[in-house]
Amino acid sequence: MSKTTDPRLAGGRLTVDLDALAANYRLLAERSGPAETAAAVKGDAYGLGADRVVPALARAGCRSFFVALPEEGLRARAVAPEARIFVLNGLFAEALPAYEEAALTPVLGSPEELALWARHNHGRDRPRPAAIHVDTGMNRLGLTTEDALAFAADKAFRNVVNPVLVMSHLACADERDHPKNEEQRESFQTVRAAFADIDSSLANSAGIFLGSDFRFDLTRPGIALYGGAVASGEPSPMRPVATLETRIIQLREAKAGETVGYGATVTLDRDTRIAVVSAGYADGLHRALSGSGVPLRQAVGKGGVGFIAGRRVPILGRISMDLTAFDVTDLRPDAVHPGDFIELFGTNIPVDEAAAAAGTIAYEMLTSLGRRYARRYVNADGDSG
Ligand SMILES: *Cc1c(COP(=O)(O)O)cnc(C)c1O
Repeated sequence: MSKTTDPRLAGGRLTVDLDALAANYRLLAERSGPAETAAAVKGDAYGLGADRVVPALARAGCRSFFVALPEEGLRARAVAPEARIFVLNGLFAEALPAYEEAALTPVLGSPEELALWARHNHGRDRPRPAAIHVDTGMNRLGLTTEDALAFAADKAFRNVVNPVLVMSHLACADERDHPKNEEQRESFQTVRAAFADIDSSLANSAGIFLGSDFRFDLTRPGIALYGGAVASGEPSPMRPVATLETRIIQLREAKAGETVGYGATVTLDRDTRIAVVSAGYADGLHRALSGSGVPLRQAVGKGGVGFIAGRRVPILGRISMDLTAFDVTDLRPDAVHPGDFIELFGTNIPVDEAAAAAGTIAYEMLTSLGRRYARRYVNADGDSG
């Protein structure tokens, strides 16, 4: 899994601070009060590498993990032998052997899935556990509340399915005052009462911050563990976990009136010093993050910025597949050299800010990082690798 690129050969490096990750877990666990704090590690732990993130979270005290796919469950199992691993994205008969092999817990969200798991458990003395997903207003996955209540009342069927957790997912948790939050909570409360003897779970990262009546027995943060903001527009209490830096290949001087990059979408209004770095949209630097020339991006006027030598430097013109240009004219000439790194997000630029400049969200920014960066995992013990 963690076949990492040789840092001497790579165009950029991604540093993942496992101490910050553990500190974020502890903060979320504290904010979750008496509830257990699980971790969403789907999408290869939001792009940061599940094989390193999962054990680090387990060391911080996390006992339950949520993945999207059974394949992700197998990988998580390889590094977390004792944990509970819940698989969110549906159950198919052909995947059942994987659930057995790795003792994965399916999250069942339709009558068909309940029936399939019941058949799978049929005749066992000790039926294998499952979670139940109830849709309370998102219309994505989950049993209707009516189906969930009927299932709760069917004792015999329930015994073979063996649910150990009933959960739902909030659509608008990052908008604190959205009326949908309270609607979903009330609807979930009704379902939960019908499953009084098992644990219940509603809150993702932002849900934890909506108040104690959203926390139930188990919380499921994802993005906040990785340093993302928990509510749109509010300062984040989380520590940055991932820092992305790309290497300057070349510095060049261009004259006022000249243009930069594909489409000649920027005309320089002054003599300009340009730093060209070795990373582009093939590395997850979304083309929408381009300094200009992206008609689809209406939300944000300006493009992204980098950080080097204590200052922010703007992206110039369009991002290409493997290359991006920055305006470094305002830096002291001796402050920047080929081989130096420009930060795209991390300790100096919040990942949410970089994402917003691309017209997207931190989740997408992190999960589209690509495979070409050299990855480094560091912690306070000075370990890296
Ligand atoms: C991804 C996911 C989470 C975590 O959400 P964040 O917003 O990243 O905290 C929790 N629950 C479910 C069902 C999810 O799909």
